[in-house]
Amino acid sequence: MKRLWSPWRSAYIDTFSEDASGKAGCIFCDYPLLDQDEGKLIIFRGVHAFVIMNLFPYNSGHLMVVPYLHTRDLDELTPECSVEIIQLLARSKNALTKALSAQGFNLGVNLGKAAGAGIDDHIHFHIVPRWNGDTNFMPVFADIKVVPEEIRKTYQKLKQIF
Ligand SMILES: [Zn+2]
Repeated sequence: MKRLWSPWRSAYIDTFSEDASGKAGCIFCDYPLLDQDEGKLIIFRGVHAFVIMNLFPYNSGHLMVVPYLHTRDLDELTPECSVEIIQLLARSKNALTKALSAQGFNLGVNLGKAAGAGIDDHIHFHIVPRWNGDTNFMPVFADIKVVPEEIRKTYQKLKQIF
């Protein structure tokens, strides 16, 4: 029996930052404004969009391409931004191939809570590297104690390639 595999339904950034007033903000708007790319796992900043690692990933190579524009809708992305997003997904694919010897990729977008979006107000595109036969051992990487250190190591590798 084949099982539908969609990591971004369960593994995505699911937290919202809070400012001093305790009001919830949007991490995809807030993080690029900070001068903390390494701390916030931003790998690359483009003109219209940036590449960030998922802090709660399905695995340590789980990246997201995010427009700076706060929108939940594909229709609101400018043509320039749409093109750059695809280019950054391609660049992510190449970097993941080089850094982690990825053999395949799942690319996906969740539009709306009903589709499993953790942050449904600010559109983001997932790219998850895959390896032949990885479905059996991948859950190991979801171990919360293992992932943070793995993420930092992978961050450095990917950043250099980008
Ligand atoms: Zn936002």
